[in-house]
Amino acid sequence: MIKKESHVFQSEVKQLLNLMIHSLYSNKEIFLRELISNSSDAIDKLKFYYLTNNSNNIIDHHYIRISIKDNILKISDTGIGMTKKEIIDNLGTIAKSGTKEFLKRISDKNKNLIQNDFIGQFGVGFYSSFMVSDKVIVHTRSVKELDGEKSLLWTSKGKGKYTIENKFKNNIGTDIYLYIKDSSKEFLNNDRIKNIVKKYSNHINVSIENKFFDEKKKKFIWIKINQSEALWLKNKSDITKKEYINFYLSLTNNLGNPLIWSHNKVEGKNEYISILYIPDVSPWNIWNRDEYKNGIKLYVNRIFIMDGIKKIIPFYLRFIQGIVDTNCLSLNISREMLQDNDLINKLYISLSNRILKLLEQLSLDKNKYNIFWKIFGNILKEGLAEDEKNIYKISLLLRFNSTYLNNHESYVSLEDYVNRMQVGQDKIFYIITDNYLSSLNSPHLEFYRNKNIEVLLMFDKIDEWMMTYLVDFKGIKFQSISKKYDGDNNIITLNKDNNISILNQEKYLNLINRIKNVLKDKVKDVKITDKLDNFPVVLSTDANEMSTQMLKLLSVSGKEFPKIKYLFEINVHHLLIKYIDNIKDEDVFSKWINFLYYQALLIESNSLENSVEFINLTNNLLLNMMIKKI
Ligand code: ADP
Repeated sequence: MIKKESHVFQSEVKQLLNLMIHSLYSNKEIFLRELISNSSDAIDKLKFYYLTNNSNNIIDHHYIRISIKDNILKISDTGIGMTKKEIIDNLGTIAKSGTKEFLKRISDKNKNLIQNDFIGQFGVGFYSSFMVSDKVIVHTRSVKELDGEKSLLWTSKGKGKYTIENKFKNNIGTDIYLYIKDSSKEFLNNDRIKNIVKKYSNHINVSIENKFFDEKKKKFIWIKINQSEALWLKNKSDITKKEYINFYLSLTNNLGNPLIWSHNKVEGKNEYISILYIPDVSPWNIWNRDEYKNGIKLYVNRIFIMDGIKKIIPFYLRFIQGIVDTNCLSLNISREMLQDNDLINKLYISLSNRILKLLEQLSLDKNKYNIFWKIFGNILKEGLAEDEKNIYKISLLLRFNSTYLNNHESYVSLEDYVNRMQVGQDKIFYIITDNYLSSLNSPHLEFYRNKNIEVLLMFDKIDEWMMTYLVDFKGIKFQSISKKYDGDNNIITLNKDNNISILNQEKYLNLINRIKNVLKDKVKDVKITDKLDNFPVVLSTDANEMSTQMLKLLSVSGKEFPKIKYLFEINVHHLLIKYIDNIKDEDVFSKWINFLYYQALLIESNSLENSVEFINLTNNLLLNMMIKKI
């Protein structure tokens, strides 16, 4: 027997509870969604436990019951319950490392600002009950506990401590008692409760019941307040849009609407039904590659088996939410077996195709697709590496900023680009930099802009890596405009009014040699370019040289990589170059060339290793000019 034991919460839980207790979050009703979702999971776990443990003690009527007495809201379930270790681990600590890290980042200063988002987005589960309660009691009996006397009573006011003691409980499951705060009395009303359940939990696969006083019978009865049906078994034509959306809400605990969905029944050897949704918000931990699980729940004949099975859909489609129900799997298949199962492998292919089709359908609605692209575009890009077979389909779904639109919020597709290509243009041109403005204002663009040749603007971290997989589109090769390439001159002569080949290279030989002398080891070569207008110089990379962004990407690993040797290209029509060409003093000449070199390097890589040297050089040149003027 446990005498009343006192425990302290792990420090992250304390922090979380503190946030909950002082929460200004207006949508407090979600606490009920969270508790119902826990109860429903607990019931699923019990059903699964019976299946895999050959138990003969099976309960077949499962329910979640909600009742109100005085200022106490009680939520009971017939789920798996918790042992002492489980209750300490589950309700005293936080296992999710993402949440821990997030909490660490919350400083007192911006606590109020962040917490509202935090609660809405993160779905912080059980602890959200402290938003509406002064005290919470959890009375639970685990399926593993044969002696009802050893059931557990967990009590806390959410202020750093909780107690555990034994208290008899007749049946397996969990009762949660919320001592509702004065400021949250609205939740002590059956109609309010009914509405919340309908809103978030209507299609949960278990009966949710509410206690009502029957005036005729003069007694309390339990009334089912949700539909608790497997929506996917109904005919598509019998399901309303609202029902699909509500099902999505109960499935995902999201608050927004899905962007699009598909409901399909596949017959034949591998029968299954699926409902797949594309959400309009991103799960908060979707970038945590180790912890994040995809949103597909697997059912076998309406019985929930497991969610987030790794190989059921590709990782780059992990934003999809939905269910798959099949009768082609044995109910008591083990979790390990699911990871390498023939049907799961088939589902992987068929669900991938279905989801890519769904995205294609979504792309017809530009506004909605833009929302999708902003949230999940960078995840979809991973598919180019992960799903070689579908590269073409994925590339049709890619969107880019482009010089054609000059607008950060609007995107073009590769098909749009190809349809607008100039006569004789045989490449898809792009530039990768650190951010939108750097790419839009890059000196490399001047030539292409003058010739009305569209350039795709890329600046996401993943882009450089993506372009190593995206070699061509419909047979047309991609080409970075900051790199030298075959036919570099063709495109110039193609549209050029004053052909570069007639430029008198000899005339500038002396200038080129003087510059080479100054920049010696710093650059690979010095060349005249006819691609610049407003800029005096630009740095580009040779075809086989690593690009600036790739070097940045690789350097994150902490390894040392050799510095890039750029081509230093000069615009001999630019006044600055003309002026510098006339400087006879080699020392002053060298200062100006270095000054231009650092400028070009700053534009190319958005930072300088030795920015102080650049500033000193600039000031020195300015000062000299001023003194001369005076
Ligand atoms: P999450 O549900 O996201 O895991 P919670 O804080 O809501 O986070 O719950 C933590 C854990 O406590 C659950 O994963 C579950 O193991 C356990 N738990 C919560 N409520 C119940 C319940 N009614 N019955 C059994 N276990 C529960």
